[in-house]
Amino acid sequence: MGFTKTIAAPITGGFPCAVSAVRISGGMTAAILAEVFRSKKNVIKNPRMLIYGEILDGGKTVMDRGLAVYMPAPESYTGEDTAEIYCHGSRVVISELLRAIYKNGGAPAEPGEFTKRAFLNQKLDLIQAEAVVDLIDSKTKSAMKNAARQLRGVFGDKIRSVRSDLLDMVSRFYAIIDFPDEDVDESGVGEDLKTLKKAYDELSRLAGSFSQGRFLRDGVRCAIIGRPNVGKSSILNALLGFERSIVTESPGTTRDTIEESYVLGDVVLNFIDSAGIRETSDTIEALGVRRSHELLEDADLILAVVDGSSHLTSDDHKIFEKTARKPTILVVNKTDMESKIDIGSLEASFKHICEISAKEKTGMDHLESTIKKVLELDHISCDGETLTNPRHAAVCENARGALLKAYEDHARGVTPDMVLLSVENAVSLLGELTGDTTKEDIVERIFSRFCYGK
Ligand code: GDP
Repeated sequence: MGFTKTIAAPITGGFPCAVSAVRISGGMTAAILAEVFRSKKNVIKNPRMLIYGEILDGGKTVMDRGLAVYMPAPESYTGEDTAEIYCHGSRVVISELLRAIYKNGGAPAEPGEFTKRAFLNQKLDLIQAEAVVDLIDSKTKSAMKNAARQLRGVFGDKIRSVRSDLLDMVSRFYAIIDFPDEDVDESGVGEDLKTLKKAYDELSRLAGSFSQGRFLRDGVRCAIIGRPNVGKSSILNALLGFERSIVTESPGTTRDTIEESYVLGDVVLNFIDSAGIRETSDTIEALGVRRSHELLEDADLILAVVDGSSHLTSDDHKIFEKTARKPTILVVNKTDMESKIDIGSLEASFKHICEISAKEKTGMDHLESTIKKVLELDHISCDGETLTNPRHAAVCENARGALLKAYEDHARGVTPDMVLLSVENAVSLLGELTGDTTKEDIVERIFSRFCYGK
């Protein structure tokens, strides 16, 4: 696949630092490298070898000393002629080096353009390209492991194997359609049903893994709700281990939602410390309250907080109603004071109850282990077949739906061409998933989300 532009961009970030690198990719790489890098040993004639030399600006003045490597096509990240230049991590050196590269015919790389070229040159499939982003963005070891396995091709290989079985089946169907007078081999029909069932089960398993896999990539959205002054901010602080939101005696001062994150085991917990939910005449407070109702809709987990040192109020009960449709932990706070709540009476409404004192920081371990238990965070597999990307999950789900239709039609004895239509739909969806048959606009959209230099 030919690309007209030779592109360049820094592939490291953060200045100042010890070392930074610039990557060049495209047909003019060797010519450009010769203009911006000078060394005793010829870097072009010694491919894949790090060569020490001088880094030149656009006027051929030596700016820095460093290393360069030339990797001719196709054995490079992008599959094109590629060079990398390592210089000192100075913003000025990097910007002057890029200026020299552009002066000699290079062009700035678009976000994700190196990886897009790698995909278009079949160095990576689409899933692997997306795994590059997930690997870089991963915030926990498990997220990193899962992304690394997807980058190795574990998930893509699985999809290709399912697709290949379905393609075999499609070809058998064509034989039936093309030669309708021939006797249909009954054992073949049984095989086809088995193939459909197997593919359907596999896709169901993959699509199902997203409900937890998304926690690996995006973390868990956890809302802390409760009347003003029950200790929501204090609980957040106790979990985070430092003073984050303003803790005050007067109710209603946590006016807006505050997001904080921390790593709990394998996932990131994103906390929404929402404004106290209550009836109010204060406009600003009312806005915060409305917003917190909206946030509840998006939450994966609710911590419903009550003050154990005071009797439950009608506001507490109103808040309980909001938790009905979400995984919820009832957090009874202020257990360092005399209890005024009959916890036993709440056990019928709440499967998970944690008694804590945010002030004394007691019961926090139990709260954390309960969070893990409720969301089954200890059971997230990071084998590379856990779906973390909504695109992957949506495609698997749609392909699964198409196969279900095919399976039911097939079992009902619907004409082979109708069954074929559904199976072919699934085959084409799976091709889109790996990038084997992805339309250009989808590819554009995926890579436009990458950041500069990837
Ligand atoms: P919020 O309005 O729900 O966010 O409540 P805050 O976190 O601002 O706490 C309200 C008041 O309760 C503050 O004076 C806190 O110091 C106090 N408080 C919070 N947690 C505890 C606790 O576990 N025990 C006691 N005794 N007081 C607490």
